Amino acid sequence: MIAPGMINGDLLLCQVAERLVQATRHGDTVARLGGDEFVILMTELSNTEEVAAVQSETLAVKLLTKVSQLYDIEAISYQCSASIGITIFNRSADVVGDLLKQADMAMYKAKATGRNRVCFFNPKMQADVNTKAEIIQELYTAISNEQFELYYQKQVDDHGHAIGAEVLLRWRHPMKGMISPAQFIPVAEDTGLIVPIGQWVLQQACQMLASWAKASATEALTIAVNISAIQFNKNNFVQTVLDALHKTGANPRRLKLELTESMLVSDIADIKTKMSALQQHGVMFSIDDFGTGYSSLFYLKQLPLNQLKIDQAFVRDILVDDNDRAIAQSVITLSQSLKLEVIAEGVETQAQRALLQSMGCSAYQGYLFGKPCSIDELEI
Ligand code: C2E
Ligand code: CA
Ligand code: CA
Repeated sequence: MIAPGMINGDLLLCQVAERLVQATRHGDTVARLGGDEFVILMTELSNTEEVAAVQSETLAVKLLTKVSQLYDIEAISYQCSASIGITIFNRSADVVGDLLKQADMAMYKAKATGRNRVCFFNPKMQADVNTKAEIIQELYTAISNEQFELYYQKQVDDHGHAIGAEVLLRWRHPMKGMISPAQFIPVAEDTGLIVPIGQWVLQQACQMLASWAKASATEALTIAVNISAIQFNKNNFVQTVLDALHKTGANPRRLKLELTESMLVSDIADIKTKMSALQQHGVMFSIDDFGTGYSSLFYLKQLPLNQLKIDQAFVRDILVDDNDRAIAQSVITLSQSLKLEVIAEGVETQAQRALLQSMGCSAYQGYLFGKPCSIDELEI
């Protein structure tokens, strides 16, 4: 902080401290290290590093504005500026001294670039903050500007016949082209935008089911829809699914919702209630990325499930990695004993398919049968 001379420095520090406390949230910590240096510890930021970076930068900019406003010290007006350095931490193993050093280095970098600046310790984070902030802004307009599209990826049985498709979200950005869901779904989840986006996906998928129902070649096909935990945990989730079915006239028995294992660890009673309510209408459930989380078999048995989906991470090296093969085999055996269907995803070669089949798998999805594509390109 740079303060002009000839004023009561202690009073200035007190007023600055007051402004810092006012601008931070309840639960954050504001401390003065000494001299004119303050440290702010922000907790409860997002677990996604890039989003946490955007959140902390937003606060930093707010602090700079507050600190640079006029001070009234013993009836004299003063103005000063500040430089802010930020470091993000997420591991309990981080050493406090190291974190302070990182923030200090970032602060000197900020100071070197001029007054009232914010800098991150990690330069990549600085770049990420800029892109993430941009994505958040643009996501808000993506729905209303109809920039989302659904791609379809075929799912097949033992004979290679289509049994359905999984819908995968695509964002056709007017300037940046196609953006992968891996890039924007975490941001959409953090901002809650996944709720309206997910609702749009459901609605579109149901519309497609309703149109497939009109032709004998497609009437028996199912559509699998990925459901985010944020979406599923909403109180009105069941109603929104039923609304989509009702509005489109889609057959609930052709709709399969893909949940991930990690979603099933929290409030099991609530999860079971929601799943059962939808199952009563005929809606099916699959557990995506199975094998990557920590499902309790006891919980699994209680849930109205239809399918386990072997994660592509185990399929990729199934021919060469004994551990992957063992995990895939146990998912297949488990599904058989729980009387569930099992599907393998990420199947790219005949050899992978043949091995999975010999292990008891009976449904497949992957580049071998078709990459995700627009509905016009889908061959079923
Ligand atoms: P996921 O549900 O595990 O989807 C499978 C991903 O693997 C897709 O990536 C798909 O394109 C890719 N894939 C399929 N077959 C193969 C293969 O043979 N080899 C390889 N290497 N990859 C294959 P995509 O489309 O980029 O989607 C990534 C993730 O984004 C999805 O993973 C899902 O978690 C999420 N996602 C996609 N659409 C939605 C959506 O509508 N809602 C929500 N909540 N999440 C979505
Ligand atoms: Ca999926
Ligand atoms: Ca998956």
